[in-house]
Amino acid sequence: MKFARLSVVASAATLAVALTACGSSTKTVDQEGGSGDNAGALVGVTMPTKSSERWIHDGNNVKAGLEKLGYAVDLQYAENDIPAQVNQIENQITKGAKVLIIASIDGTAITTQLQNAADNKIPVIAYDRLIRNSPNVDYYATFDNFKVGVQQATSLLVGLKLKNEDGSDGTAKGPFNVELFAGSPDDNNATFFFNGAMSVLQPYIDKGTLVVKSGQKDFRTVAILRWDAGTAQRRMEDLLTKTYSSGVKVDGVLSPYDGLSIGILSALKSNGYGTTGQPYPIVTGQDAEVASVKSIIAGEQYSTIYKDTRQLAEVAIKMADAVLKGSKPEVNNEKDYENGNKVVPSFLLDPVIVNKANYKAQLIDTGYYKPEQIQ
Ligand code: BGC
Repeated sequence: MKFARLSVVASAATLAVALTACGSSTKTVDQEGGSGDNAGALVGVTMPTKSSERWIHDGNNVKAGLEKLGYAVDLQYAENDIPAQVNQIENQITKGAKVLIIASIDGTAITTQLQNAADNKIPVIAYDRLIRNSPNVDYYATFDNFKVGVQQATSLLVGLKLKNEDGSDGTAKGPFNVELFAGSPDDNNATFFFNGAMSVLQPYIDKGTLVVKSGQKDFRTVAILRWDAGTAQRRMEDLLTKTYSSGVKVDGVLSPYDGLSIGILSALKSNGYGTTGQPYPIVTGQDAEVASVKSIIAGEQYSTIYKDTRQLAEVAIKMADAVLKGSKPEVNNEKDYENGNKVVPSFLLDPVIVNKANYKAQLIDTGYYKPEQIQ
């Protein structure tokens, strides 16, 4: 748990600077094994699902890091089932967990359990997704979620050649037909991603450079419950049948998550896209999942957003370690994450756009994947 380990990727430099700027105590993070009553304490970790690779990495990384510090860890996955996650949190409180790290499924559904945790003086760290409508959320470890959306939209514009990577105007003029997708409406992140993306795309839509041919532009209409790939695939099929059947082509798709992107690409493929005469539209993503990185290398999906789950785990581990030792965790944002009840002190990490040109530098050279994993 030394700061040096965080400097493996470029964005971690920001983290180190932010930690220093916050006047963090290296003594706290360098001590091993907990202290006082909390040495070897149980930490409850709940993750939403194993159906997406990233959460498997997150869970494994958090568990390994906490165990290295001498803590015991109860790690649970709920396969996107809200009552199952509620039970898991209740069980962890019963088992005597001293801190809870929660990546929630529905950020509003665990208020009662959090009250129970607070009554038992168990601090709660929201992991990646903000837990809403509860005063009993102590800290939040995440990426800059608005920026993720800005990056997704920016890479859509770059893919369409409306912009260059350096931010200058590209060679294309448009107009281009695009369709928009958003994540699960019960996940606070989904709104941040969508708002971030629309902050970039809206001026192009207003000018007519981008045309959302289906007319479906508001978050509720384009959101995909539980981030389900099948639902996204069906919605894309539907859009292609209803809006694009008369020879009109779709040029770009804003997709907020790799799992959805793969579903969207399948729908496109079964509707004749993916050939020399009719190439795939520019399709974005998020998480740098193996299937999507392979798809990017094959020239199908255009881009993804890489969020180094090793760094996020490290932030959450440090937060848990600090609260267990009775000290204050480092945060770098105390304004953006209002949960309907309070502003939750947060630590935001930097996401990175990944495409065919930089995947090696970002994902292989940093050790995130071994070359054979994505071949
Ligand atoms: C996470 C994303 C992920 C999505 C679907 C979001 O809360 O921030 O990284 O793609 O959930 O699992």
